[in-house]
Amino acid sequence: MDSDQVEQRPARDWKATDVICVDQPELTTAERLYLPQVFGGLATTFRHMFKKRVREQTVVQYPEQKREMRKEIYRGVHRLNRDEQGRVACVACFMCETACPAHCIHIEGALSPWEDREKYPIKFDIDELRCIYCGMCEEACPVDAIELTPEYHLVGSTRDEMIYDREKLLMVYDRTKEDKPRKGPAVTGY
Ligand code: SF4
Ligand code: SF4
Repeated sequence: MDSDQVEQRPARDWKATDVICVDQPELTTAERLYLPQVFGGLATTFRHMFKKRVREQTVVQYPEQKREMRKEIYRGVHRLNRDEQGRVACVACFMCETACPAHCIHIEGALSPWEDREKYPIKFDIDELRCIYCGMCEEACPVDAIELTPEYHLVGSTRDEMIYDREKLLMVYDRTKEDKPRKGPAVTGY
């Protein structure tokens, strides 16, 4: 479009009240040094350091002491749930793998040996180092087979150790089955 073809907007009828003038506040000498803010920040830090209740809430002697995570909101290590018969609950639908934004789930499905489902996973790996713990996988799962638990003790000396395979994920379930982790009724309803 040529410049002479540019559509001309109708001139706006400005009123005096449409314009707000803001004056820059004058800083005092003390404010220009930023010392009141520095001392104010230090006072807050020391107040928290010596407040017994806050100290007890925030300091744990890890690893001797473990912090109790809030199950309803914390998303930690994954688990693969078992059904009532102790079999892996996953039906290898690939919904979690598809939904995962970090591409850290890798599934291989096979024909199920059981009559009540078509497929099951013969391989199910999650790269716990690559995961961003967003919870999209558990939201996507139609059978609540994958969940994020309140566990946060993720240690390993090699990258391979941090790739949790099907058996390891089932072991996490066996360890945490008494806990019903996060509750997201607005989305999952479980
Ligand atoms: S929590 Fe998020 S990033 Fe981690 S495996 Fe699930 S979908 Fe992927
Ligand atoms: S979404 Fe659920 S059922 Fe489907 S592959 Fe993932 S864990 Fe298995």
